[in-house]
Amino acid sequence: MKRNEWIQWATNELKNAGIETPRLDAEVLLAFVLRIERIRLHMYPEKEVEQDAGEQFEILIKKRRDECPVAYLTGEQEFMGLQFMVTPEVLIPRPDTETLAETVLEWVKNTAGSEKIQLADIGTGSGAIAVSLAYYCPAIQVVATDLSHDALKIAEENAKRHHVLSRIEFLYGDLMEPLIEKKYVLDALVSNPPYITEKEAESLPGSVAGYEPMLALLGGKDGLDPYRKILAEGLELLRPGALVAFEMGWQQGEDLKSLMEEWGLEGVQIIKDLSGRDRVTTGYKQSCQ
Ligand code: GLN
Repeated sequence: MKRNEWIQWATNELKNAGIETPRLDAEVLLAFVLRIERIRLHMYPEKEVEQDAGEQFEILIKKRRDECPVAYLTGEQEFMGLQFMVTPEVLIPRPDTETLAETVLEWVKNTAGSEKIQLADIGTGSGAIAVSLAYYCPAIQVVATDLSHDALKIAEENAKRHHVLSRIEFLYGDLMEPLIEKKYVLDALVSNPPYITEKEAESLPGSVAGYEPMLALLGGKDGLDPYRKILAEGLELLRPGALVAFEMGWQQGEDLKSLMEEWGLEGVQIIKDLSGRDRVTTGYKQSCQ
């Protein structure tokens, strides 16, 4: 069959299975199998697809029909303009999380000048936050933790891929734990921890519930347990004036703000993502106590 015929077939299959972006997914997956850019499908739609490639494409479309996320099928996800390797051991970086990365970069630009900045990324997963921050700001040094050895391997691969491995230290352990032992002094603490509530966990979309790591998603009854733990353990590692920046669920902003204020953080602010929903909360360690 020709390229356009395969795309038509796959689009119908995915549409019938209730996939939200059937044509886009079909094109991305065919381009992936053919190892070409997607635009070339439009330039040469009449080209015959070799049998091998056709068979591979069919397998991918079947998996996609079962809601396997495209990023796990291609092994790649774009974040902050960079391509990240992803496997089912790590959460797929979301566009929402770019709000967190951009907020931190903005803070660095406005406050830190060119001095070295020691930052912690807690629960790094694919390393998308740690790697993109280091990539876009040469002054940034990151210590990144995760409770999954598999995730740390992927994150390290991503750091290598974007040539920032020398500025990121990866440590295995639960949230802040590995940092406490090593007595770090931090200029910024950044995290997109698991924050799905018990109730939300019951109705996650199939593509998330069936494929993404629950370790990276579930944050206890109200989704705020990981923040409580990070704040309880982490604040003493921050130098005065240091930034704390968290991603949170869009309904958790006010509760997280109160929690951060209870812990004595100053200037606590909620920042919205591109869809206009509360997504990031920032605050600062007191300058003098
Ligand atoms: N934003 C993710 C989702 O809704 C959750 C990420 C997280 O728990 N840190 O699937």
